[in-house]
Amino acid sequence: MKSELIKYLTDLVAINSVNPDLSRDGQGERKVAKYVHNFFLGLGIPSEVHTIQDDRCNTTAFLEGNSCDKILLMNGHLDTVGIEGMNDPFILRKDGDRLYGRGTYDMLAGCAVQMGLAKYFSENPCPISLAFSFVADEENLSMGMEYLVQNFLPTLSAKPFLGIFMEPTEEAIGISHKGYTWYELKIKGLAAHGSRPEEGTSAIFPLSSALKELESINRELSQEKPHPYLGNATLHPGLIHGGTAQSVIAAEATLNWERRTLPGESQEKLDTELSRVISAVADAPGNHQVMGKQIYSRPPNEADDEPLIQKLREAAGGQGYNGMSYWADSALASQAGIPSILFGPAGHGAHAIDEWVSESSLLNCYQAMKSFILGFNS
Ligand SMILES: [Zn+2]
Repeated sequence: MKSELIKYLTDLVAINSVNPDLSRDGQGERKVAKYVHNFFLGLGIPSEVHTIQDDRCNTTAFLEGNSCDKILLMNGHLDTVGIEGMNDPFILRKDGDRLYGRGTYDMLAGCAVQMGLAKYFSENPCPISLAFSFVADEENLSMGMEYLVQNFLPTLSAKPFLGIFMEPTEEAIGISHKGYTWYELKIKGLAAHGSRPEEGTSAIFPLSSALKELESINRELSQEKPHPYLGNATLHPGLIHGGTAQSVIAAEATLNWERRTLPGESQEKLDTELSRVISAVADAPGNHQVMGKQIYSRPPNEADDEPLIQKLREAAGGQGYNGMSYWADSALASQAGIPSILFGPAGHGAHAIDEWVSESSLLNCYQAMKSFILGFNS
């Protein structure tokens, strides 16, 4: 299977699947979705390309096993981040155990594993049914996964008993990951000549109160009891805009921050933090006005340490459980009632210019998944 897996990965890397909302080099996932679709049809496994909008596409395939209603959901995202600064990002290059190329690690290798499993189980009996899914846009707003949850999962004859998202986890079981919430704070002042500040109201000075409050909240978060796999929740100010010219009292300022959330944190707690920042700015000296709101949110994900996941862990060589710092589409499957975890190969350079996946680890993941599935025979 090794040469087949490398062939699939070579093909996947060769098709530009850069997310067009993240980079001008992107053209959408239609081409790569069609490639995967044709691969499944070639194996005699029913498959479909789902167009979400324009050239943003998912591919799904369904292999009916001996048990029709015991369905394992497997998932990978087809999109990659941009290729700026990379030499030959679309040519798979082997150097020892390393397979270089954009998307090798995050996460076309995981997609290649799904293809390898499809090949194997198209030729051998499969004890359970396999729902293969390849989605668009995980690197941005997850329109692919949202579409899958709304339009594909309900068409299955039963709810999958487990979702395995083959993001890179260094062969550990990614049993949990953080969520995130975005906030925007707008401060309104009054423009005036820089030499006559008494005629205006600076919208930028009060930002310091917001930043100080965010620092306090962040410190408090760092002192909370850490999550066993994810550590502490954090926040950081990611964007600041304000003012129109150096010689003008700034009439407007905007601050955006991101809060990385842990399983079990309540919306109430998050709302209180937002109120604290708004109050700090409102109480700052000056006649400014302040408005703050939550603008976007994705939930964290956590699966229970149940026998099924222990089985996968054993199949994967008994590696430990891990918490992933990054957010992943698995949270949306969990929200839809499918317990979901991450499991994928080792490598390096997700979103970096020197991205590679370990060839031996790619093979290990394939073997682990295969024996996990075959384990349902007994
Ligand atoms: Zn990824």
